[in-house]
Amino acid sequence: APVIVAIDGPSGTGKSSTSKAVAAALGLSYLDTGAQYRAMTWWMLSNGVEVNDPAAVAAAAGKPVIVSGTDPAAPTITADGADATGPIRTQEVTAAVSAVSAVPEVRARITELQRSIAREAHHGIVVEGRDIGTTVLPDADLKVFLTASPEVRAARRSGELKGKDAADLSVTREALLRRDTADSSRKTSPLKQADDAVEVDTTELTLEQVIECVVTLVEE
Ligand code: C5P
Repeated sequence: APVIVAIDGPSGTGKSSTSKAVAAALGLSYLDTGAQYRAMTWWMLSNGVEVNDPAAVAAAAGKPVIVSGTDPAAPTITADGADATGPIRTQEVTAAVSAVSAVPEVRARITELQRSIAREAHHGIVVEGRDIGTTVLPDADLKVFLTASPEVRAARRSGELKGKDAADLSVTREALLRRDTADSSRKTSPLKQADDAVEVDTTELTLEQVIECVVTLVEE
């Protein structure tokens, strides 16, 4: 049977790098659910939707066609056919995504997309996000919850930001903690560890060690 792996946790824990590497190592598909919320947000910002107005966001939630590539070697995403892979990483999208993703109509729409992508992954899939083990795929074969200290998460995130989006460490730390607080406190499917998830604290681990740990958990 296809293996379904759910990897959840806050920002800066190495979720994306780990999930892609585990999928590649095991020949599985890969889905970045954060990229779907970002693509929805980017589409709304590009189409004049007032992203801080939940009613406006709810009314627009059904409109964009969002398509995710599931190759872990080259993850891509489009919104209404436009390549959003680059634009979804801007600070403007990052600042707005938590408000958009808190709207129940957005979550319902994207959760449905996620389930259909997982169903169609015949060799299995690694799905990374915030609510995969709790809400989207509660029957996943393995659930991993990645954590790390706030300092380490901010340092990793600031190392990823390049060029015009590079911010100093304290600004990155504040923005990241603000997003995690919003994601953890929203009413619909907050960021939360599933009861049956394996917690992996990555604070003292290298990326290679985290990947090895998760691959071992899948193979067990
Ligand atoms: O993982 P990433 O940082 O790209 O996620 C961006 C945002 O998308 C998160 O801060 C959160 O607001 C939202 N998200 C979510 N549920 C998921 C994945 C991401 O609400 N499963």
